[in-house]
Amino acid sequence: MKPQKAIVVSVIKRAEYVRSLRFLPEQQLPFKAGQFLRLEIGENKLKRYLSISNSPTETGYLEVTKKLTGSDFSKALDGLKSGDTVFIEYPMGSFILDEKPLKIAFLSGGIGITPIRSMIKYATDKKLDFNIALLYVNKTVDDIVFRQDFEDMQAANPQFKLVNVLSEPAGSIDCKIGRIDSHIIEEAIPDFAERRFYICGPPEMVSAMKNILLNELHMPTEAVVTENFQGY
Ligand SMILES: Cc1cc2nc3c(=O)[nH]c(=O)nc-3n(C[C@H](O)[C@H](O)[C@H](O)COP(=O)(O)OP(=O)(O)OC[C@H]3O[C@@H](n4cnc5c(N)ncnc54)[C@H](O)[C@@H]3O)c2cc1C
Repeated sequence: MKPQKAIVVSVIKRAEYVRSLRFLPEQQLPFKAGQFLRLEIGENKLKRYLSISNSPTETGYLEVTKKLTGSDFSKALDGLKSGDTVFIEYPMGSFILDEKPLKIAFLSGGIGITPIRSMIKYATDKKLDFNIALLYVNKTVDDIVFRQDFEDMQAANPQFKLVNVLSEPAGSIDCKIGRIDSHIIEEAIPDFAERRFYICGPPEMVSAMKNILLNELHMPTEAVVTENFQGY
């Protein structure tokens, strides 16, 4: 795998502090939904690992989605415009769907949704026989990344159930209030014991959710797959 040039197509605002960057690699390589890349930008050659947030079924560009943290990398990314050059290395990672369709559940918070968006979009577009539940936790309704996308996928895919969990009450959306704990998992996913769980987010969140699954809900270790966004 060698770094290669890519040309920026657009920067899309997803939430106040979240941006998607779309670019066209010189050489488009096959990737699996859920994989990530290394992006190098700016004169200072700043590098970060970022999950690919589009699905392999959405062809003609690659997309990553970054939380703007005020870091030099975040500022450089937010300042990119159409026609700019970036460098990427891809694809990497094994946080991917199983080959054989099965019942799965995704647990995620905030920006940890990026590879999950790719996987659910892929399963929906390909009409794969995966039965999918997503518990997605955010502070407020405005923090939900890809909200419309997930609503569209739920409308298109009868096998996909979306449950938004917000820590602050919101009038305009059907959601649960609180945080992801064993009670919300049992209530939202009554058949949780039959599923494979995929967790993605900052390491602290991943570790807390894994702990709930293994130690409170007594799931076997092999039923839990994780991706840690090191750096948060
Ligand atoms: C596999 C993977 C996928 C990721 N996908 C996404 C994504 O889709 N969207 C997203 O917003 N973020 C993602 N991240 C996190 C991202 O790579 C950055 O770490 C994060 O965005 C913080 O960088 P920053 O520039 O905003 O903040 P900074 O304040 O500059 O970074 C925080 C600190 O973390 C350090 N750091 C950065 N990357 C790493 C690393 N890999 N390991 C250890 N320390 C590190 C920096 O040097 C700095 O000290 C992913 C990380 C990994 C490993």
